[in-house]
Amino acid sequence: MKTVVDLKLNNKKVILRCDLNVPMENNQITDETRIRESIETIELISNAYGKVIILSHLGRIKEENDKLKNSLQPVCQRLSELMKRSIKFIPMTRGPEVEQAVNEMEKGDIIMLENTRFEDLDGNKESSNNPELAKYWASLGDVFINDAFGTLHRAHASNVGIAEHLPSGIGLLVKKELDVLVDVMEKPQRPLLVILGGAKVSTKLGVIENLAKKADKIFIGGGMCYTFFKALGYNVGASIVDDEKVAECKRIYDLYKDKIILPTDVIVGTSYSPMSAARLTKISDIYTNDIGMDMGVETIDNLRKEILEAKTVIWNGPIGVFELDRFSNGTKKALEYLSNISGKVILGGGDTAYAAVKFGFKDSFHHISTGGGATLEFLEGKRLPGLDALLDE
Ligand code: AMP
Repeated sequence: MKTVVDLKLNNKKVILRCDLNVPMENNQITDETRIRESIETIELISNAYGKVIILSHLGRIKEENDKLKNSLQPVCQRLSELMKRSIKFIPMTRGPEVEQAVNEMEKGDIIMLENTRFEDLDGNKESSNNPELAKYWASLGDVFINDAFGTLHRAHASNVGIAEHLPSGIGLLVKKELDVLVDVMEKPQRPLLVILGGAKVSTKLGVIENLAKKADKIFIGGGMCYTFFKALGYNVGASIVDDEKVAECKRIYDLYKDKIILPTDVIVGTSYSPMSAARLTKISDIYTNDIGMDMGVETIDNLRKEILEAKTVIWNGPIGVFELDRFSNGTKKALEYLSNISGKVILGGGDTAYAAVKFGFKDSFHHISTGGGATLEFLEGKRLPGLDALLDE
């Protein structure tokens, strides 16, 4: 697989797929990490006298109204401010205006097209990897670079589709993300501690199975631990449970119980709201109406000991409902302990990364991944279509 530095870029029209899918509220960008992380490759291509044509998705487009809050225009503006140079925004995904802008580009110029998912309104053309759309986007360029780590696990027209038509390679961000993950999977410094949390147990069982062979310890917290507790016969009250995964959790627990660490106490609440009551309880004393929200003091202390011993930590998924202050303690404490160890700490997943930013630990770790699903699928040992599409080049 080639990287951007292996390809001839001088005077070439380079289609660059970035992941500029940043969180937005009222048209304001709330976390610009993905924009900042994309700059290195954009600069490299421009400095090599390539013409940079940026494509990215932003949010989901299911109806016409979704377009209003998901234009890439504010992202383009912010990128332009950060790079301190002009970047032309084309408010279209295809058509004469796009073609004219591309034809008028000088060496080193940068333009950005509108959100690739705008094409989903017309029969999911982007998300279903429509061949005609992929061919059109490819026709705008001479070379394709995929630097969108966050969408490597998807086969869309703007990543997999275009790669079928042009000499292609990965960008510097994708390279960096992959290098970190390969390194940690192939030769982790031990002990290797995996911390898993979040709401959806279904997305992480494959990770447990794949990592259980490599990890020394796997801590399971957040919302996903309650499906395990139900599988082990505990009353979990009104906590989040995926009933379809109970049997699988039991099977996985029985297989790897010598490595799996479950909470011994938790903070339960009465509702997912700032008004919720909060109570510390042993796992064996959860009442019918209790909702498991955060880790308890004993659990946090056990996790602290594991963190202090670890030489490598992979963490995916917050271990409590950290969006609510009163249930954010476990996630905050874990961030604090992790920020103080000398071993490698790798954070993956949008919510975990966001928690690190929110609580002031953004620069404290070896690596914070820009991709949630892509990281999980990599850790599960699955193939990533966005990479497979580039393998033959
Ligand atoms: P995921 O996408 O599966 O990683 O889930 C992330 C979400 O998990 C965050 O929004 C957290 O608020 C949520 N979460 C963490 N702990 C819990 C819990 N005990 N119950 C419900 N949701 C939780």
